[in-house]
Amino acid sequence: MFTSVNPATGAEIATYEELKPEEVEAKLQCAADAFARWRTTSPGERAELLSRIAGQYETHKARLARTVTEEMGKTYKSAVAEIEKCIAGFRYYAKRGPAMLEPEKAMLANGRQGETHLLPQGPVLAVMPWNFPFWQTVRFLAPTIMAGNVGLLKHASIVQGCAGLMEEMMAAAGAPEGLFQNLRIKSGAVASIIADERIVAVTLTGSEGAGASVAEVAGRHLKKVVLELGGSDPFIVMPSADINAAIPQAVTARVQNTGQSCICGKRMIVHADIHDDFLKGFTNAMLAVRAGDPMDEATDMGPLSSFEQLDTVLDQLERAKAAGGTLTGGERIGNAGAFISAGVLTGVPWDSEIAREEIFGPVAMVFKAKDADEAIRIANAVPFGLGSSVWTNDEAEKRRFITEIEAGMTAVNQMLASAPEVPFGGIKRSGHGRELGREGLREFANLKTVML
Ligand code: NDP
Repeated sequence: MFTSVNPATGAEIATYEELKPEEVEAKLQCAADAFARWRTTSPGERAELLSRIAGQYETHKARLARTVTEEMGKTYKSAVAEIEKCIAGFRYYAKRGPAMLEPEKAMLANGRQGETHLLPQGPVLAVMPWNFPFWQTVRFLAPTIMAGNVGLLKHASIVQGCAGLMEEMMAAAGAPEGLFQNLRIKSGAVASIIADERIVAVTLTGSEGAGASVAEVAGRHLKKVVLELGGSDPFIVMPSADINAAIPQAVTARVQNTGQSCICGKRMIVHADIHDDFLKGFTNAMLAVRAGDPMDEATDMGPLSSFEQLDTVLDQLERAKAAGGTLTGGERIGNAGAFISAGVLTGVPWDSEIAREEIFGPVAMVFKAKDADEAIRIANAVPFGLGSSVWTNDEAEKRRFITEIEAGMTAVNQMLASAPEVPFGGIKRSGHGRELGREGLREFANLKTVML
């Protein structure tokens, strides 16, 4: 059984039965059969379906958003924004996808013509997390549909209500049976699905541990894998930056989704000349973040996604203090829900073990850097390499940060956010492969070379 618990109240919302092995087998065969038909559809047909799915998300926006809030605790207004992002994602691939599938031509040295065709490969398994239960899945699903592949979802155990709604939206949009199916299975059952010869590839968003175990199985069976894992993104502020613009963005970057986004700005690295002013303004703004009922429009931040997640974050904060850090805020609120206040950690050695971990909660670490060299050194001193945000109006510093920060993404004078038009993904232990943009469509395509 899967049990959905509202982390704002601790109340049980619903239970869902795990699929039996014969039901999983039927779904795998259904996916294979659906692929045999879907692979022959035209890009125009695929685009029409994506537009209809976007329409269903539009019609059911409030219901989808409410389920997100109830199952994992983010504020209702941010859940609505998540569904709107999904709509934009489906529409982006509906509009731009057909052109991306046009064969690319190249003239060969021998005078003949070469072409690259993007062809589908088969059913793709997606193992997805709870933090953006719709958007994380849409990032895989929209390009999968446009590429002519079909999808199977193993969603996080705590958001099975959202997973079921995704299936419902597909059916309501008139998607062919088997194009997208929700597999209500535990993580222990994932290996045998990857091994199944009907599955051609796997994509996972989640922790390093889950990523490593899925990649190991995929490697053994020679299947392609895309991994979008954790991050501990630096947020660098230099003296030439507009500090009054940087502070509120630093707060949003850290507390969005109650700090549970892989691209949250988690480590604020501030030049010594402005460090004290930044710290004062940032700490005041963090302490002013209102945590509370996620359905209330006035709330800035809901609870953490589960009581387990709360325990994990509280344990990390204790370890940060033991390593020499001073914590302001970052305290458990009440007993009924998994609430924690926003907080700031100072004095944690930047090369300590805890500073190298991802804190998936609304507490920022602040570090002082004497110059750009030191800022870059601190930024790169973690095993992750997902995103980064740099604040400077010095052109030479901008160039250095773009080229020297070890990350898949760098946002300049703005908070980092994913966008359908550009690739999303990381390096180092943040994973490999890319979602979104043209690259997201190509990840699971067969790039067939054709000689004419
Ligand atoms: P997990 O990585 O455990 O969960 C993500 C998905 O992977 C879920 O569907 C989960 O299933 C599945 N999974 C877990 N272990 C395996 C496995 N061995 N084989 C196959 N599938 C597996 O994340 P948690 O929920 O446990 O969160 C732990 C930490 O991971 C967070 O504190 C955060 O640091 C990081 N994280 C990062 C995310 C990101 O966006 N990069 C998203 C979520 C978490 P099930 O739910 O059934 O266990």
